[in-house]
Amino acid sequence: MSTVPFVIAVHGGAGTISPEQANEAPYHEGLQAALRAGAAVLEAGGSALDAVQAAVQSLEDCPLFNAGCGAVYTADATHEMDASVMDGSNLKAGAVAGVHGVRNPVALARAVMDHTNHVLLVGEGAVRLAQEQGVPMADAAYFHSEERLAQLQRVRAQGAGVMALDHSAKTLTEKPTPIREDGKHGTVGAVALDQHGNVAAAVSTGGLTNKRPGRVGDSPIVGAGIYANNATCAIACTGTGEHFLRACVGHDIHARMAYKGESLEQAGEAVVHGLLKDIGGSGGLVSVDAKGHVHMPFNSVGMYRGVMRQGEAPQSFIFR
Ligand code: ASP
Repeated sequence: MSTVPFVIAVHGGAGTISPEQANEAPYHEGLQAALRAGAAVLEAGGSALDAVQAAVQSLEDCPLFNAGCGAVYTADATHEMDASVMDGSNLKAGAVAGVHGVRNPVALARAVMDHTNHVLLVGEGAVRLAQEQGVPMADAAYFHSEERLAQLQRVRAQGAGVMALDHSAKTLTEKPTPIREDGKHGTVGAVALDQHGNVAAAVSTGGLTNKRPGRVGDSPIVGAGIYANNATCAIACTGTGEHFLRACVGHDIHARMAYKGESLEQAGEAVVHGLLKDIGGSGGLVSVDAKGHVHMPFNSVGMYRGVMRQGEAPQSFIFR
């Protein structure tokens, strides 16, 4: 059976580095370690699904990114994490929302896909599945971070709350207040094309700093923050989740390719710089199509991102 060259792309969120994090090197290291973790799976002939999970787990284990051990705090100073996986070869998906104490939420999303008849589990029911399936848990100390707590206090002190997202705009062109950069960087995601020609995507996040408990963003919602279909592409988003939900970003890119015949790049540009931006959404995405094209558009100042092709070294970028 003939094989195709694999490729994997990751993102580490669409915020930009704040002054106290001026050293970019650790972010590049984190992104490239994730690319290598995913590429190792692909190199061995593994599936795109296993590769994106491995890459996202690597990012969840890195405290610099807003997922897993680096998850941001809610308004109650707790952690509520969301994650998802989707397999483009069969449109299977698994997702969790509002989970706490789970070391790698993306592994739990995978367990939802593999071990239940459901797509999305939330809160305690999702945590119970983790316990039943032996998905590793971690104590509160593992998720605690002085820096993240200080970030919460800064956002609180600034008064408006993270949801400086303003939904009061009455027309598509009236610009709502964008979310503060301080509240939203580091969500992680990955997309891959494996040697068998299958695509997959995975996303994991702590959400938004100071979010209202119970709030769920786009990351675990199939068709919004994630999508994968061998017929078109795989997509993993990051940014102001409410806007990504309202614009159905993942599925819109797929649909433009499927029904309008647009290329990955045309579809991604149209959505990220069109509808998403028009309703005030800030962020971007990584995407790969079944031919191995990679597109990583964003309308924010920067987006932590990287790509690695078979036989090549990993490459990572932050700004344009
Ligand atoms: N999209 C994520 C959310 O809204 C946050 C992010 O990507 O930064 O939960």
